[in-house]
Amino acid sequence: MTETLNIAAIRADFPILQKVIYGKYPLVYLDNAATTQKPRSVVEAMTEEYYNVNANVHRGVHFLSQQATDLHEASRETVRRFLGARSTSEIVFTRGTTESINLVASCFGEAFMKEGDEVIISEMEHHSNIVSWQLAEQRLGIRLRVCPITDDGLLCMDEFEKLFNDRTKIVSLTYVSNVLGTVNPVRDIVRISHEHGVPVLIDGAQSTPHMKVDVQELGCDFFAFSGHKIYGPTGIGVLYGKEEWLDRLPPYMGGGEMIKTVSFERTTFNDLPYKFEAGTPDYVASTGLARALDYVTGIGFDAIEAHERDLTAYAMRRLMEVEGMKIYGPGAEERDAVVSFQVANIHHLDMGTLLDRLGIAVRTGHHCAEPLMRRLGIEGTCRASFALYNTREDVDALVEGIRRVSQMF
Ligand code: PLP
Repeated sequence: MTETLNIAAIRADFPILQKVIYGKYPLVYLDNAATTQKPRSVVEAMTEEYYNVNANVHRGVHFLSQQATDLHEASRETVRRFLGARSTSEIVFTRGTTESINLVASCFGEAFMKEGDEVIISEMEHHSNIVSWQLAEQRLGIRLRVCPITDDGLLCMDEFEKLFNDRTKIVSLTYVSNVLGTVNPVRDIVRISHEHGVPVLIDGAQSTPHMKVDVQELGCDFFAFSGHKIYGPTGIGVLYGKEEWLDRLPPYMGGGEMIKTVSFERTTFNDLPYKFEAGTPDYVASTGLARALDYVTGIGFDAIEAHERDLTAYAMRRLMEVEGMKIYGPGAEERDAVVSFQVANIHHLDMGTLLDRLGIAVRTGHHCAEPLMRRLGIEGTCRASFALYNTREDVDALVEGIRRVSQMF
């Protein structure tokens, strides 16, 4: 195993991993694609802010308000650096990936799409990257064009190219599938889309925790991710958008913060990124998010990637030793830290419930990707997903657990 990470020290940063569930120890937490656990540094920074700094940001002349504002804006700078964006004007705080995608679907749709115009998505999208566009479909009469995937769970790139026409206005695709773990060729996707003069939104919910991102190098026009999937708090996420696009979009929600002046006759809107941040932002969560990003960059993505790739390959090898095992998606080389599987005819819910009794947390069901389930001809799967604190022992416990559950059937 690649021992570039000090796993024992890392695990000690996450108190919840010490929890005993149903008398089982240690907890085997393999539901990281749904949400990750939080290190002490994140929780402590947020507690400290509530205890010692708390005041509403941006509109106070008093000491605490200014201190809270400084912290919030410093967090925005941390996000900018993390994403490699040019300016903090391009960093919009949202509630998460879902809100970021909805913002683009709503505002980009309103500004640049009319009846008959098209958005390209794919068969492997999370509901948030399907339904947000369907809402625009209902409102504006736009059309969704869906890029198919191969039986191995890879995007059909030939078909992708064929989907472009003069009605194509935007491409919105996931970087990494939350079900199959497929890592999509984002650079090719951006290059091809731009050759057709079409901007690209990347759903980075599942890529951001596992691989270094540089939005300028990727060249994408929009990029969305969630704090809670990268060891940060719930309720905060980010929309990165190139300034030239964000500038041309109308506001998403109306309220305080997003205006310059208001009168009953005419309201003018604030500069970027505040134009998209109506209401009191979650300024404590932004601090937590910044500490989470510090945490992963402090460890380093080279080490994280090496560890998680090793773990994923090991998991696939070990799982395939189980009789009746079917793993969905591509080989270990083309996937990130997610393995969805089905064992013989054992229902995924039964498998997940019984694994839970053994102290092993996996996710079961359609994983908010019903169209993908339909494409695979199944109702759901069991899904094990890894984070930097998982170990080969966790994988061994999973394999052993699956064997025990299989024997019961
Ligand atoms: N996109 C993908 C690929 C996801 O896996 C998820 C969550 O699982 C989302 C979007 C939505 O993220 P959130 O619920 O944090 O907004």
